[in-house]
Parts: sequence; C-alpha cells; structure tokens
Amino acid sequence: MFARTWPQPARCTVPDPRPPRPNAAAAAAAADVAADPTVLHIDWTLCDGRGLCTELLPELLGRDEWGYPLALNRPVSERSNVPVQRSLLPAARDAIALCPRQALRLTESAKLTRLPSNGRG
Ligand code: SF4
Repeated sequence: MFARTWPQPARCTVPDPRPPRPNAAAAAAAADVAADPTVLHIDWTLCDGRGLCTELLPELLGRDEWGYPLALNRPVSERSNVPVQRSLLPAARDAIALCPRQALRLTESAKLTRLPSNGRG
C-alpha cells in the first residue's frame, strides 16, 4: 500500500530569548521559604562534623571536604544559615534535637542579619 508522507516543517533555530522558566518545585519551595523565613543556623564552632544532620536533611545540607555541614545552593558567605521550607521544619527540629553538640538552632532570617550591639550605637 502506498503511504503518503508530508514534508516536515523546518525547525526553528533561533534561540529563545526568554529566560528559562523556573522549575515548578523550586518555585514552590522558594515561595514557601519567602512566606516563612525560618533559618537553620549551623554553629561550626560547636559542630564535630560527623554529619548526622546532613542525613536528616539531605534536601538542605551537604558536607564540606572535612565533613562539616553546609547549606546546599547558597552563596559561600551564607552557608551556615539554611532557609527551611515549612514542609521541612519537622526534619529540621529532629536534626536540632539529635545534634550531639547542640550546634543547630532555628531562628528567623531577620534576626540573623542584625549584628549584636556593642553598646556604642
Ligand atoms: S549533627 Fe550537629 S555536630 Fe553533627 S554534623 Fe550536624 S551540626 Fe555538626
């Protein structure tokens, strides 16, 4: 039997100038963080670097080459402060409760940006 074929349209080769659309899950997580600016602070001076918290919060924490936890996908200067989505708060609380060195705490992001006052203004 004769099968009729149609010419295929030429594919567009002009690059799309629009910015890439954000991943829906990442956008939802960012919105969740924006709505609830809770931050998990890692005190590296107390931490022993065994990485229990990274096993409890693999979505948020990675380990550096010495085993110390740090925030994933954050600028280097902000890697001890981990924004926590509301859905991950229970896991963050578990990590705090189980941290053997009490090196983790939850705080509001606004409190982290303020430096302690030295009484000179
Ligand atoms: S659980 Fe505590 S002591 Fe262990 S790596 Fe995490 S922050 Fe450090």
